This record gives sequence, structure tokens and C-alpha cells, in this order.
Amino acid sequence: MATTDVFFMARCPRCGEATLHRQVSLFTIQGRGKVLLSCSCGFLLCAIAPQGKKHYAVDIWSDCCEGPHRFVFTLGQLLKNCLVLTCSRTDFHLGYLGDRGSVLAEVMEGDILSLADGGSLWDFFADMEVMEGVLEQLYALVSYGKVQCHDCGSDIDIRIYRDRVSIYCPHCGNGGYLLAENASDLLLMKQAEGLILEKEGINMVYGNMMK
Ligand SMILES: [Zn+2]
Ligand SMILES: [Zn+2]
Ligand SMILES: [Zn+2]
Repeated sequence: MATTDVFFMARCPRCGEATLHRQVSLFTIQGRGKVLLSCSCGFLLCAIAPQGKKHYAVDIWSDCCEGPHRFVFTLGQLLKNCLVLTCSRTDFHLGYLGDRGSVLAEVMEGDILSLADGGSLWDFFADMEVMEGVLEQLYALVSYGKVQCHDCGSDIDIRIYRDRVSIYCPHCGNGGYLLAENASDLLLMKQAEGLILEKEGINMVYGNMMK
């Protein structure tokens, strides 16, 4: 079943701090004719719809252009790679789409914060090194499927703030904050083997407790 899911990741151009991570089943897209991915602030980021028998049309909205940016992919392209969706006019990276492991590997290998605004970032975060370390570990855990909602699954929304990262399940609202302010926050995160989103917050799992 996992091989029919595509993973979408993008930064919301309206509220800026949100990075949307969504796993979408291609069966769902076929069944509904179209799937819309919105940020929790309400901004419509992406629409994925089947086009003919073998292709999928992906529309992405951003503030660089008036209308949506359209991309057309085959099933094979969606399932096996990390597709970097780039605005042809500005070269701006609108988002990433594809196999979850490949998408997160691409984001980790490149600038981990490339989804956020350049330039002012160094001033924005309480401690850039801590934030970078926390995100790196978070993306590593996500790519192994080790960040899960206690009740639903591995579909998550991540938001990046000055000194913390929020992780919520878009289905039931389980989740909470991970602090990313000082060295001890990073140490705690580095040792975590998994994160479970619960009603009361994020439960960091240590040792080999998680499969
Ligand atoms: Zn937003
Ligand atoms: Zn554009
Ligand atoms: Zn949930």
C-alpha cells in the first residue's frame, strides 16, 4: 500500500512559518477526481488531479505568480523520485513531491531550511544551529516513518517558529511543540528514536521502544 502514496512538502507563502507535509494516496486522488492540500491557515497550496489514464496534473499556488503553476507527471515519476517543483519564471522552489524518503533526503542534503526565506533567517531563529539540528533529526525520523499520531498515522503538519517547532496531526489535532531554543533541546531531540503525537502533546520515545 505504501507504494501508492505520494509525499508533498511545501512552505505556505501566506503564513510563511508553516511547512506542510502531507502523504496522499493515489487511490484517493483517483477516487475523488482531485485532492486539495491546504495549509492550516486556509491557504490552498496544491491540487493534484488525474489527467487521462497515465498522468497526474499538479497545480501549486504561490505568491510569485498570479495563477497556479502547473506540472504534469507520470505515475512512475511520482512514486520513485523527489520532484523539485520550481517556478519557471523566478526559479523559486515551490515545493517537493514524490516518494517520502527521497523528498526528505533531498531536503536534508540540500539546505534544510531552503523552504524558508533566505537572508533574514540567521536573525530569525533563537539559535540557528539548534534549529538546524532539531529539523535534521526531525526529518530523519519522519523519513523512517517514526513520527506518528497515536490515533491516526504518519500524516503530519509541521510549523517552524523562532524557538520551537510544532507538529500536529491534521486529522485529529494530536500533537504539540518541540523546543529548539538551546543546546539541551537539541540533545533531547538527538537521542529520540521516535515521536508520538498525543492529545497532551508530543511524546518523545527513547530506546528501542518503537518499531
Ligand atoms: Zn499558511
Ligand atoms: Zn511563480
Ligand atoms: Zn491523529
